[in-house]
Amino acid sequence: MVFIVANWKMNKSQAQAVEYIHILNKFSDLNKHINVLISPPSIHLPVISSISDFPLVAQNVSHLENGALTGEISAQMLSKYVKHVIVGHSERRQFFLENNFFIKEKIQMCFKYKLSPIFCFGENKNARNKGNYLDFIKSQIQEVLFDFDVAKISSLILAYEPIWAIGTGNTATALQIEEVHTYVRNLLILKFGESIGFRIPILYGGSCNSDNAVEILSNDHVDGLLVGGASLDASNFINIIKIANEFSSNRF
Ligand code: PEP
Repeated sequence: MVFIVANWKMNKSQAQAVEYIHILNKFSDLNKHINVLISPPSIHLPVISSISDFPLVAQNVSHLENGALTGEISAQMLSKYVKHVIVGHSERRQFFLENNFFIKEKIQMCFKYKLSPIFCFGENKNARNKGNYLDFIKSQIQEVLFDFDVAKISSLILAYEPIWAIGTGNTATALQIEEVHTYVRNLLILKFGESIGFRIPILYGGSCNSDNAVEILSNDHVDGLLVGGASLDASNFINIIKIANEFSSNRF
């Protein structure tokens, strides 16, 4: 099933968030054949979960169970409101210095509390320009995922998010997306076997909008989109999920 995830990042007051969800709820039919997920700032989760027809996603989770971690929110706390957590987003790697080891611990916590991680990976501009981006991606996937067993990994979702494409308006081309998604699919199959390796959804994120969603989703190797900036306006986002619905009916 196609996944379309709205990542609001650190945007929207509570009133704006509620207004958005009321608008989106009028289109709850659009969530019958695809998975539309909304990731608001965590502080809005209690209010939004009480009104949203759409499942919610946390933008972050603590790497530890509980304790002296000022400002953090645990997987257990989040599990009351969400089924998914975005982990390894490049903004967390860049601004909060999260490394692969730390991200792996967060994923471990997600699994412990039956949360499905949406694990973001992707190369920076330097690796893309130098041409060693597949090695860069391979290390991220291996270091974060390869110690988990097959049973746990089956609830994982991946999102290829080339850092140079996030919030820049420079979407990766169809060929660039296909190359990386195929490469990662093969890594997953080799490590976890065909039945799980083929099933793990691989989304694309990086300057997706209603103008390029058709092209990106028409790529058979793309199982959905992680949408940042273009998800902030409800009508823009609704256009994207309408497009995704058309694709899912043509594809399956
Ligand atoms: C993101 O931050 O996950 C993202 C894809 O952002 P944008 O769509 O704004 O590039």
